[in-house]
Amino acid sequence: MGKPTGFLEFERKSESYEPVKTRVKNYAEFVGHLKDADAKVQGARCMDCGIPFCNSGCPVNNSIPDFNDAVFRGNWREAIEILHSTNNFPEMTGRICPAPCEAACTLGIIADPVGIKSLERAIIDKAGENGWVVPQPAPKTTGKKVAIVGSGPAGLASAQQLARVGHAVTVFEKNDRIGGLLRYGIPDFKLDKRLIDWRMAQLEVEGVKFQTGTLVGDGMPKGVANDATKAVAPARLLQDFDAVILAGGSETPRDLSVPGRELAGVHFALEFLIPQNRQVSGGRKNPINAAGKHVVVIGGGDTGSDCVGTSNRHGAASVTQFELLPKPPEQENKPLTWPYWPNKLRTSSSHLEGCARDWSIATKEFIGENGKLKALKAVRLEWRDGKPTEIAGSEFVVPCDLVFLAMGFTQPAASMLDAFGVTRDARGNAAAATDGNGCYATNVAKVFAAGDVRRGQSLVVWAIREGRQCARAVDELLMGSSLLPR
Ligand SMILES: Cc1cc2nc3c(=O)[nH]c(=O)nc-3n(C[C@H](O)[C@H](O)[C@H](O)COP(=O)(O)OP(=O)(O)OC[C@H]3O[C@@H](n4cnc5c(N)ncnc54)[C@H](O)[C@@H]3O)c2cc1C
Ligand code: SF4
Repeated sequence: MGKPTGFLEFERKSESYEPVKTRVKNYAEFVGHLKDADAKVQGARCMDCGIPFCNSGCPVNNSIPDFNDAVFRGNWREAIEILHSTNNFPEMTGRICPAPCEAACTLGIIADPVGIKSLERAIIDKAGENGWVVPQPAPKTTGKKVAIVGSGPAGLASAQQLARVGHAVTVFEKNDRIGGLLRYGIPDFKLDKRLIDWRMAQLEVEGVKFQTGTLVGDGMPKGVANDATKAVAPARLLQDFDAVILAGGSETPRDLSVPGRELAGVHFALEFLIPQNRQVSGGRKNPINAAGKHVVVIGGGDTGSDCVGTSNRHGAASVTQFELLPKPPEQENKPLTWPYWPNKLRTSSSHLEGCARDWSIATKEFIGENGKLKALKAVRLEWRDGKPTEIAGSEFVVPCDLVFLAMGFTQPAASMLDAFGVTRDARGNAAAATDGNGCYATNVAKVFAAGDVRRGQSLVVWAIREGRQCARAVDELLMGSSLLPR
């Protein structure tokens, strides 16, 4: 344990943020990592409580009190070893994880929780700067071949784990670059894409092969990004590889079937966010330009918030965000919710850059002129016992030029699962259990599923967890037993 009285002596230290007026002028990351002295203080606040709830609150079960203590003592190399023992990509989670660990921190019951996420980022950034993150190629190869479909965090985590125990891993990706939603979806101002290239270089030296622009199966539904210039049939993968992991994400966007949906100016969120990622990394200009436009974002989650931040960087005239659900409480009821993830109002850094928000709103119609969006008609809702009713006479019209639909993702593209003959669960995801014998295995022999394709739309940290656990299940199948962590 760092300092026994640290939690009584020190306040939580937060990372520094670029001021709004400068950060909205570009797409660069704007959160600075903790200085060493602040990280030490943060580590000192950890109480090393007998039962570390943070550790079970974290989906990859990071050994949080251990790395807190290492940072407090200035043992940064030890800290990165502890962190990497449970998490392949702390440079991702240290930036974009919502930190359920902090909601579970025991200190959080009476004070601000330990800034675990900021410590995680400080540790990996220091390790990167000092060249401590080096490839770990397997000492010997097994002669077994594994194909992974999808290069998001689930696919990459399983690829790294399997390569490190000596299997020959090939990752197939339909888009032109590796990273899944980390690359195309999450804005550059939240996650610098050079971090993905940096990790990929490590994976390549560890033996992972990447085949981009390659679709496994055939066809993608409307609204799903697809740069593929070639296709590989599932039968071919099953013939050429000893095991296949499906890590294709949950890419089908939820649509809004109201009159006027076809108007120019109404887009799925990723039709806006992906071209923006491409533009920032030197590609052609985003065909959707929010400069000087009145923008409405429908949907209040991460994707919606990313549309808000991107619209403000374009120079939108106004940005409004509507959410169907009621406004959550400003503060959680800690005795009721701790150590679980509480329902409370969350204001992202993008919201703070300028955005009007409203809740309990249902969109009824998009109104256009000559095929172009001009306004949106909505109605207010009253929620009772979890059910909404429209409030009579509460309809209103909001003039707008652009609408982004950010209402979540319903399921994976069915074509890939159907092409393999994989059974889907009631929500349309790949059916595979996560415990017991044969976990992560689908109904098709030697075909596994991990990440959003299996659990539905979720978080990067969950995708990493599933990728790691799935890798162990595959290793067990191939070798009879596995030394990979659960
Ligand atoms: C805009 C946005 C913002 C988000 N922000 C956050 C955040 O701040 N924090 C957070 O924790 N989570 C966030 N998420 C969620 C997070 O990105 C996902 O939960 C996570 O990326 C899922 O990882 P995955 O590996 O399962 O799938 P994905 O990242 O979706 O990767 C799947 C990959 O598989 C490829 N693929 C699919 N089918 C095929 C096929 N047939 N052949 C070849 N390739 C295929 C896809 O092209 C894609 O590259 C966000 C999501 C979105 C959309
Ligand atoms: S991965 Fe997320 S939940 Fe786990 S320690 Fe890091 S910030 Fe917390």
